[in-house]
Amino acid sequence: MTTTLITGANKGIGFETARRLVEAGHTVYVGARDSERGRQAADRLGARFVQLDVTDDASVRAAVETVEAGGGLDVLINNAGIEGRGEGNTVTGAAAVTADDVRTTFDTNFFGVVRVTHAFLPLLRRSASPVVVNVSSGLASLTALSDPDHPAHFYPGIAYPASKTAVNMLTVQYAKAFPQLRVNAVEPGFTRTDLNGNTGHQTVAEGAEIIVRMAQIGPDGPTGGFFDVNGPLPW
Ligand code: NDP
Repeated sequence: MTTTLITGANKGIGFETARRLVEAGHTVYVGARDSERGRQAADRLGARFVQLDVTDDASVRAAVETVEAGGGLDVLINNAGIEGRGEGNTVTGAAAVTADDVRTTFDTNFFGVVRVTHAFLPLLRRSASPVVVNVSSGLASLTALSDPDHPAHFYPGIAYPASKTAVNMLTVQYAKAFPQLRVNAVEPGFTRTDLNGNTGHQTVAEGAEIIVRMAQIGPDGPTGGFFDVNGPLPW
């Protein structure tokens, strides 16, 4: 059994992923930027809580100390994310999207993944079978967004898809740099959560499925890939 940290696990797909991994017998840290909501979520699940804002260096450093004192880390799930709804997410807004709009989204979705992974790498490298799961999106796929027949083609936003494409690239580069690590990006599918105003057509149980699967791969599992529940995805 492993020790797993999930960022942004106080609700949504991250919470359901935590629930499933606790149920499977793993030790799970619910990472949350809000201590009260994070603690409540962890208590409901029988999990551990760690305060963790992925945009805040001091918060991430303190989280590393907490997890190290708790015995180390085997699996990191970079789940925290924002869609960055706003001007840049509408068709007309595409022309109006500013560098600051994009920066805000990247700060959580991309730099957050770099910040957290970089900080936890020393702990992960002490694990016998370290795993990282980066929660990406089908909207990361250049193939999908440029194909008029693909359902993702309709999506007009700029910052969110770009941030997730960057996460996929990061995944490939980490996989090459750390061969002992299994690091993969996953697409949960369009899932009913606060992120999209609960408009998704999947349940959180369906959305968490590929994350739970990838979190439990062994040392012979894939690395550097992009997957949904049906297998590898082009991007
Ligand atoms: P939710 O909005 O339900 O959950 C997002 C989680 O991320 C919350 O716990 C939120 O915390 C947390 N979070 C946001 N910013 C930070 C931060 N700076 N530091 C720490 N935690 C933060 O969304 P989902 O469950 O849908 O999203 C989970 C992941 O799945 C995201 O990466 C998203 O991009 C991805 N995804 C979702 C899809 C969907 O259809 N829902 C489809 C494809 C990918 P708080 O409660 O404090 O805001």
